[in-house]
Amino acid sequence: MQTNDPAYNPLDDIDQVLVDETTIKNRLKELGKEINQAYEGRDVAVIAIINGAIIFVADLIRELSIPLQLDCIRISSYRDDTKPTQAPEVIDKIRLDLKGLDVLIIDDILDSGNTLARVTEMFRAMEPASLKTCVLLDKKTTRSVDFEADFVGFRIPDEFVVGYGLDFAERYRQLPCIGILRPELQNPPEWS
Ligand code: 5GP
Ligand code: MG
Ligand code: MG
Repeated sequence: MQTNDPAYNPLDDIDQVLVDETTIKNRLKELGKEINQAYEGRDVAVIAIINGAIIFVADLIRELSIPLQLDCIRISSYRDDTKPTQAPEVIDKIRLDLKGLDVLIIDDILDSGNTLARVTEMFRAMEPASLKTCVLLDKKTTRSVDFEADFVGFRIPDEFVVGYGLDFAERYRQLPCIGILRPELQNPPEWS
């Protein structure tokens, strides 16, 4: 990676594309239909877990025809690395009062399950009318707590992925696809 090279393109750092842009777009249309049907006649509070879910939620809510409110919660368990280094921590709280609302939590990826288990437990205490979760990606083999999402975009193998909102050290979120970083870039000394 050479950010001062005018020819540098972050896509060059991807070793393998797991989900391409068109496949994401098509799946989001289907996911939008599933969610519209599940919440027909209801008014939904969509809560995005940022930063990872920002691109996904921006595209997904534009596939939704149900009335909705949008809020964000900022959670972090990674520090510039490819493995979680701490328990999920709430960095910035939501503003909406979830009491009595139909709540749909959106995250980029479900891995150990710790993040969504923590957030759902926290939101349940706010007494929503209903609480469901939606993730773009599910690494099904890596759970450390028993947790399943209600809506899933894609199931992927246990690889550290970036792009379409997912980062490595806050980089690569802008990639239109989801891919695996070149191995030599996964822990560069200048970022750790
Ligand atoms: P969990 O708490 O389920 O282990 O992980 C959820 C969070 O960890 C995600 O919201 C995401 O921020 C981060 N995460 C887990 N796997 C990956 C991955 O493969 N790539 C990236 N960039 N982040 C991941
Ligand atoms: Mg996250
Ligand atoms: Mg991250």
